[in-house]
Amino acid sequence: MSKQTTTETGADAAADGDATEPESALANARRQLERAAAHVDVDSGVIERLKHPTKLQQVSVPLRRDDGSLEVFTGFRAQHDDVRGPYKGGIRFHPHVNAEECIGLSMWMTWKCAVMDLPFGGGKGGVAVDPKTLSEEERERLTRRLAEELRDVVGPKQDVPAPDMGTGPQEMAWFMDAYSMQEGETMPGVVTGKPPVIGGSYGREEAPGRSVAIITREAIDYYDWDIEDTTVAVQGFGSVGANAARRLDEWGAKVVAVSDVDGAIYDENGLDTQDVEGHDERPGMVSGYDAPESLSNEELLELDVDVLIPAAIGNVITQENVDDIQADLIVEGANGPTTFAADTILEERGVPVVPDILANAGGVTVSYFEWLQDINRRKWSLDRVHEELEDEMLKAWNAVRDEVDARDLSWRDAAYVVALTRIGTAKETRGLWP
Ligand code: GLU
Repeated sequence: MSKQTTTETGADAAADGDATEPESALANARRQLERAAAHVDVDSGVIERLKHPTKLQQVSVPLRRDDGSLEVFTGFRAQHDDVRGPYKGGIRFHPHVNAEECIGLSMWMTWKCAVMDLPFGGGKGGVAVDPKTLSEEERERLTRRLAEELRDVVGPKQDVPAPDMGTGPQEMAWFMDAYSMQEGETMPGVVTGKPPVIGGSYGREEAPGRSVAIITREAIDYYDWDIEDTTVAVQGFGSVGANAARRLDEWGAKVVAVSDVDGAIYDENGLDTQDVEGHDERPGMVSGYDAPESLSNEELLELDVDVLIPAAIGNVITQENVDDIQADLIVEGANGPTTFAADTILEERGVPVVPDILANAGGVTVSYFEWLQDINRRKWSLDRVHEELEDEMLKAWNAVRDEVDARDLSWRDAAYVVALTRIGTAKETRGLWP
């Protein structure tokens, strides 16, 4: 579909995408930081400090299984930086959760909150467990015990978890309840992403996908394309992917392909995204949908579309498949879907990649709205959430776009420049103690 993206990306990017370098979230995050640091006027000591988390909590989480047996899972909470406010970020339940991944993801949360100019720092945690192997009762016991194990390090003014891969509003409700029971008072502000009936915000669940759609719409406009004439493929039709696809479809884009873990569906005339049930709504309904063509997830990534939105998991665009990526623009819906090496190659090819720390930041932004509502004990209407989210996303988009235009940077480097400048200035203003 060859569309033109007229912004040339910086040719000075470190082209050191070494195939042997492990591309864990942490390695990826550190290399992105080093690369962007070259473009900011921030003390090198601050940059060095930002390569490391402030704290990493590792806990053992014993779980009584339904059959009476006992299993012990490992949980983590990485707290990267809190110079601008309490640590903020999700808790994931996924078999691959480990310390390094949590640290890398917590770094991305620090940048994400700073790009959005939220008064939060970055955190991320999780339990190395496959939630699909747990009954609902087991998930509840695991979440409550995790809340107890992390009780000393979380809190509305200290560190505020939220949903992430494998967790959702119900886990946040259990977490909030367990924490509140121990504290002796109801403390809704300890987590965000709760069901609205107990202090959650309207619009929080759809917010990451909505922000991906808003940023994609702005990028389409930036490159002077017509949204009605733009084809989109979305990998992952869970909460982020489904909401992004449905909004873009509503706004006139042609969503030609979507996928879940089992496979992708394709219709060159555009899918009816409202009719396809999301993976979270009914697992298996995406790949099982009666569409003109079925594809594999790999084939979806390589489709000749205008916009590709990887919204499933990390590390899906790698050195192995990057040469086969034909999209003219990539907007990251998941956290860390593009490895450092692949990102460098895409930049050399002139394919813009709008980064996760901007595109999916609607989630943490509405988390911030939720935290404010919890502190003030006053609920916002869904319309107000949508309006304020739109405003915040446009403010962040404009700040990043200004850096792209002024310095001829890639979208990722520009987003890092915005974030690092805010964090660096905050650190210099507060000073090192003692
Ligand atoms: N887990 C989400 C993210 O990666 C949201 C974090 C939050 O709301 O605190 O951005």
